[in-house]
Amino acid sequence: MIPISIPLLGDEEKQAVLEVIDSRQLAQGPKVEAFEKTFAAFCGVKHAVATSSGTTALQTAVLAYGIGPEDEVITTPFTFIASANAVLFAGAKPVFADIDERTYNINPHLIEAAITPRTRAILPVHIFGNPCNMEAIMDIAARHGLVVIEDACQAHGATVGGRKVGSFGTGCFSFYPTKNITTAEGGILTTNDDELADRARLIRNHGQRQRYYHEIIGYNFRMTEIQAAIGLVQLGKLESFTAARRVNAEYLTQKLKGVITPCETNGSRHVYHQYSIRVPDGRDHLADHLRERGIATGIYYPLPVHKQIAYQQLGYTDRLPVAEKVSREVLSLPVHPALTQEDLDRIVEGVNSRWS
Ligand SMILES: *Cc1c(COP(=O)(O)O)cnc(C)c1O
Repeated sequence: MIPISIPLLGDEEKQAVLEVIDSRQLAQGPKVEAFEKTFAAFCGVKHAVATSSGTTALQTAVLAYGIGPEDEVITTPFTFIASANAVLFAGAKPVFADIDERTYNINPHLIEAAITPRTRAILPVHIFGNPCNMEAIMDIAARHGLVVIEDACQAHGATVGGRKVGSFGTGCFSFYPTKNITTAEGGILTTNDDELADRARLIRNHGQRQRYYHEIIGYNFRMTEIQAAIGLVQLGKLESFTAARRVNAEYLTQKLKGVITPCETNGSRHVYHQYSIRVPDGRDHLADHLRERGIATGIYYPLPVHKQIAYQQLGYTDRLPVAEKVSREVLSLPVHPALTQEDLDRIVEGVNSRWS
């Protein structure tokens, strides 16, 4: 079976883990600091704050901006649930703006209509590694005095106009095993704002600047030295992974017939965390057809966030027709760097033969 994703770890990662174990320093220390510095340089930002997951990076960002009860944050319904949950964890309310049918990202034209006196932030998600329209989003934020938290959990190394995602607002990345690079579990927050970075560090570590002196009520959202050591090795491989993903995606886009292929917006660099096509008719049939041919697929996401039972119980009754339609039609095909030319041809043959 060709898997939909696979963590690519080798001898260097194994060696890095063994070195940490031998060092006896396991909790947040010099490896985490080195990982933060390297990641900040990679993104072109002043600060990076490593966390235990992408979810806790998002939660830290929302809390560090002082967003709380009575506040609203505008986000997309077409994402992994953690994007919106991070707002709920702070006691604030996620407000959903529908997506663009071609990019699957939040539609900037609909953000403005969702702004109320309570709106504090916009939380765009670079879904599948395809950057949002950051020019439009930053412009809306500036005109309305809002902050921007980018959910870049799927978009390590993606760029808009040559500038890395996570450097426009405050960025949040995940290193879960299916992501473009992994630390097993892990996350990181990126920002150019000195004060925000300082608050994020306090929130992550029980409000301590100095051990056992607590300035604020914080959490244990720390990354371990083992994770950071793996992350340092993985970060060194990210550009080659991304190049392979892009070559694979380009091949699929050239060869696939009768399906809607992903779009790359002018001036932006898609990093293809997922290669998600749309099949307006017979999506599930195609998934079965591919499975029979030894090709795994994924449906990200079968149900938009506002339609989840957990959100229905909170009273969400939104109608967001584009997100709802896209959820019924998307199908992700393998695009990861471990695919061989033979795998790619099997995927193409599988998709193009589905009605025969
Ligand atoms: C993976 C992911 C998250 C959460 O990251 P974790 O590390 O799994 O907590 C948040 N948002 C998006 C869009 C993601 O893909």
